[in-house]
Amino acid sequence: MKRQRVAVLGSTGSIGANTLDVIRRHPARFEVFALTAATQVDTLLEQCAAFQPQLAVMANEAAGRELARKIEGRGWPTKVLWGARALEDVASHEQVDTVMAAIVGAAGLASCLAAARAGKRLLLANKEALVVGGELFLAAVEKGGAQLLPIDSEHSAIFQSLPEDPSTWPARVEKIILTASGGPFRTRDPKSLRDVTPEEAVAHPNWVMGRKISVDSATMMNKALEVIEARYLFGLAPERLEVVIHPQSVIHSMVQYHDKSVVAQLGTPDMRVPIAYGLAWPDRVESGAQALDFHKLADMTFEAMDSRGHPERFPGLALAWQALRAPAGTTAVLNAANEVAVEAFLARRIRFDGIHAVNLATLSAVAASNPATLDDLLDLDARARAAATAQVARLQA
Ligand code: NDP
Repeated sequence: MKRQRVAVLGSTGSIGANTLDVIRRHPARFEVFALTAATQVDTLLEQCAAFQPQLAVMANEAAGRELARKIEGRGWPTKVLWGARALEDVASHEQVDTVMAAIVGAAGLASCLAAARAGKRLLLANKEALVVGGELFLAAVEKGGAQLLPIDSEHSAIFQSLPEDPSTWPARVEKIILTASGGPFRTRDPKSLRDVTPEEAVAHPNWVMGRKISVDSATMMNKALEVIEARYLFGLAPERLEVVIHPQSVIHSMVQYHDKSVVAQLGTPDMRVPIAYGLAWPDRVESGAQALDFHKLADMTFEAMDSRGHPERFPGLALAWQALRAPAGTTAVLNAANEVAVEAFLARRIRFDGIHAVNLATLSAVAASNPATLDDLLDLDARARAAATAQVARLQA
């Protein structure tokens, strides 16, 4: 079997590290060709020592030069590059078979598009790239002949529960049910949420993840982004996408068919499972995760999204359907607003409930069009960020 050469974009993050953990278990199947990071030079250095990639990319020049200095003279095969262009070059490199897109936020869009256009096997963790890119992203996948495989545990679960042939999905599938843990504030009094700290918000009960997605899980904006992601990945109308709270995170999502049969995927909450599935698809390989022990599984419970005060607690979730029914660029506006708002919250410039306020205000301030080109999209993203930044300043005043 030919070894798959993998470029791990965002290798120093939570998904990146889990990807390397799976790859390390299968040296005969996978080879790390490139690793990339933004700020963590020493972590990337350690990863280069362990995996000896051909290329290592830092997002900016200063970090790139520092990494190059630290690698020099060690006799490794690794060439160091830097900058946004270098990320795209790595993602579309002729020697790369598979790209793990694990950069956080819209910053990963350009490299995802480069991988899509170059026809790679594209493992998509970076949901924001698809939420922003939407139909343009899908068109690039189609035109480039890329294989897009979801890494988000919910979308991997849905993909595993759907028939193999995508052309049968609309006729056979009645709805997709995304499960949500409800995050750290599932039972909190909605009125008390305005005072929660970044430390409380990033402490997820079931998953260990990067800071941005952890805050998104606390607001349930993560689920909103996932609903949008599901719409683009699986092509079902927004009214056929549903969310149910399932605090134990054992069922990762479900597909309901027209005959009312429901197919679900279950497992322990460990991102190495969907990562291993994406890397080896359609095969199955050891992921390193613990198996579910049904004898010890105490409970599996479910809560409707419109019960127990959840609409007041998680007002951001409804924005997914609102954005999907508006002009196409609206999902990009929502994503940009949310990225700005989460950053401001983590920097303690706005309160937790300010995140939703910024998202709402930005959606009404920026008229979204149907972006026809990447430049249109980037322009829309920039306008939304400016509007959200102004809103953050207003909340601070
Ligand atoms: P982390 O914050 O842990 O890691 C993000 C990675 O992206 C790091 O390698 C970081 O580099 C790099 N990065 C950050 N900003 C830039 C930039 N401007 N340019 C280039 N590289 C950049 O995030 P996660 O691993 O948690 O999440 C990654 C993506 O996967 C997100 O889109 C998230 O929604 C999605 N996802 C994550 C899950 C999880 O369990 N963590 C589950 C499902 C989806 P550095 O660290 O060096 O600064």
